[in-house]
Amino acid sequence: MYKKIIAFSVAVVMLVACTTVPITGRRQLNLVSDAQMQSLSYDAYNQFLKENKLSRDAQATAMVKRAGQRIQRAVEQYMAANGLSQELQGFEWEFNLIEDDQVNAWAMAGGKTVVYTGILPVAQNETGLAVIMGHEIAHAIAKHGNERMSQQLAQQFGGQTLSALAGAQPGTAQNLVMAVYGAGSQLGLLKYGRTQESEADRLGLIFMAMAGYNPEEAVSFWKRMEAKGGGQAPPEFLSTHPSAGTRQADLQKHMPEALKYYKR
Ligand SMILES: [Zn+2]
Repeated sequence: MYKKIIAFSVAVVMLVACTTVPITGRRQLNLVSDAQMQSLSYDAYNQFLKENKLSRDAQATAMVKRAGQRIQRAVEQYMAANGLSQELQGFEWEFNLIEDDQVNAWAMAGGKTVVYTGILPVAQNETGLAVIMGHEIAHAIAKHGNERMSQQLAQQFGGQTLSALAGAQPGTAQNLVMAVYGAGSQLGLLKYGRTQESEADRLGLIFMAMAGYNPEEAVSFWKRMEAKGGGQAPPEFLSTHPSAGTRQADLQKHMPEALKYYKR
């Protein structure tokens, strides 16, 4: 009897917790809701903005906001065309350029995005920037943060729910949110997995193409980024977005699909 009840409960949890990644269709296990992830992300993002300096370079800031808004519109179009607009519920998109030498960028649940000035030389131009922002936003759209949060709760916090953790240890919950989005925190930097990287590459190419940026530029951007990985201090961006050595092949594989969305 008890066994049956337990089996039934597990089945219900699995049913509630399984979501599908847009475009790739992969089933993923999410134990945290979008609303929870957004609410924690918004707090963490505001805290981050308080503790860091916005860039005073008006031109570069405008470029980050423009590329971000173009990709936002592309995502909204894509989701609407595929009957997935409800996935963007509660989004409060925001794009900021931070004055910081770190080679890094990230996007949290709800579209809260940060680019560091340190990554701009690798981006080289607005299309290179769109590669980075498309990739980061793709991680957020594919709910990789929720997925990693679920894993961390299971592995490090004894399977507590996110609301229990946030209630008991709000600081830890906020640090965990920063860590799962590759934003860095006292909990360090968490790497995205190989499947997540491949998904973000594919979705990112499509989003940048729909936004009017040539996706073929992604190939040279990642070559420039990976060339920076040979030194003693590899860029933060490469620590959180590891390359399995198959990135170039993956980009080439997904390119024909992305190019269908690109109007020259
Ligand atoms: Zn990535």
